[in-house]
Amino acid sequence: MTKTMQKLRDIQKKLYAFQYAANLIDFDSQAVAPSEGYPGRGEALEVLSGLKYEIIADPALPEMLQQARKDPLNEQQAAEVRELQRMYDEISKIPAEEYAAFVKLTTESVNAWEKAKAASDFSVFAPYLEKIVDYRRRTAAYFDPDKKPYDVWLDQYEKGLSMVQCDQFFAQLKAKIQPLVQAIVQKGAGASCDFLNNTWPVEGQKKLSEAVMTIMGVDHGHCVLGESEHPFTQELYKGDVRITTHYYENDLLSNLYSVIHECGHALYELHMADRLQYTCLSGGASMSLHESQSRLCENYLGRSLPFIRNLWPVLQQHFPQQLEHVTPEEFYKAANQCQPSLIRTEADEVTYCLHIMVRYELEKRLLDGSLTVAELPKAWNAMMKELLGVDVPDDARGVLQDIHWAEGSFGYFPSYALGTAYGAQILAEMYKTLDVNGLLEAGDWGPINDWLEKKIWQYGKEKTPDQLLYSACGAEFDPQIYTDYLVKKYSAIYDLS
Ligand SMILES: [Zn+2]
Repeated sequence: MTKTMQKLRDIQKKLYAFQYAANLIDFDSQAVAPSEGYPGRGEALEVLSGLKYEIIADPALPEMLQQARKDPLNEQQAAEVRELQRMYDEISKIPAEEYAAFVKLTTESVNAWEKAKAASDFSVFAPYLEKIVDYRRRTAAYFDPDKKPYDVWLDQYEKGLSMVQCDQFFAQLKAKIQPLVQAIVQKGAGASCDFLNNTWPVEGQKKLSEAVMTIMGVDHGHCVLGESEHPFTQELYKGDVRITTHYYENDLLSNLYSVIHECGHALYELHMADRLQYTCLSGGASMSLHESQSRLCENYLGRSLPFIRNLWPVLQQHFPQQLEHVTPEEFYKAANQCQPSLIRTEADEVTYCLHIMVRYELEKRLLDGSLTVAELPKAWNAMMKELLGVDVPDDARGVLQDIHWAEGSFGYFPSYALGTAYGAQILAEMYKTLDVNGLLEAGDWGPINDWLEKKIWQYGKEKTPDQLLYSACGAEFDPQIYTDYLVKKYSAIYDLS
């Protein structure tokens, strides 16, 4: 390795250490820390992000990167240089004080959001959201003054993504999904789901979670399951990944599918190539790619009949009375009910992307200035009525349900829908060479995980998201594969002609 490359490795190791600390603090804040401990956390994060800023925005870095490019680089080294350049370009454009102040602002705004949500009172959160929207509109100009702010942030989460592409993608989804939802609603309840109204003791659910992790091949020595209000995954490095879930005694499916979803994220992190360790290439290729893996596990594998058949003895062992008169086929139909509802994270597979469209349209308008923060709750409720046909009873179950805007994430929501569609395309490709259903029914996730590791997981950020999707699927992204999958699956479940 050349001297310059060695220096760049040292820089990456420092960045890794900052990221490790920040991720640990984040995990702690959501899964462990007391609710009123946030001011000290905000101070610490402000200092840490200031130090991280100094490393990335170091004026000597561009020259070092240019020097590195003069030497022969292997594929990984070239990707490290590309990624460091991207980080430099991204961060050095924002003045240091503004960068650190924003980290502090989001810590405060998350706390305000939690209180606002608990009291279902948007006015508690509104002043913080105003500051965040203002920051996002203002700082977008540092990146590209000629670009619309929302395009700048979309591009940050998914390189090359724009409103034009999103508009097209969501229009394509809407044209297929809305008629499908309408047909399902008209047809009425497909299966009897009364058994879901049982009580599901948390002890049994905890054992089920552990069993699911084992079936999916998640290594307990390198991944722990904790609890938090909203399930999430936090990776410290490939040898220490943490996932969380939330147990509800009156809802078995919420925990079951949260665990499967987060295991999908965890498997991605746990199977990164060792050589990417401690470099800026570790971690998923993009938010969409990450979400493609979690939703592939949750919906395409976890909500399939073969998987449920395999899980059946475990389910019956822990919930013998609750499932006494239920068959795996009935459970499958219950786990795949389609019903327009209020909460994104609890939404079924068919209506899920409609929830994303609500957020996409609204954040687009907040950033172009055509919608004010004060008008947001009303606009939210109107869009929920228009797209999902539901009436929002209060802001806690409406505009305040998600943490993303409080964290300053604008342009993030489309990744969920994109990732879902990527996942369908990746699954269709996997079907060509693997007997996926046979493996699921046998509880043999090994070949599935090997396939995903070989095609996706091992690469981290070494390949760009489009390169990765293209190399895995041998074709460009095609959202129709996803809508075709939905129509086929749900036409069968609801017996639509
Ligand atoms: Zn996820």
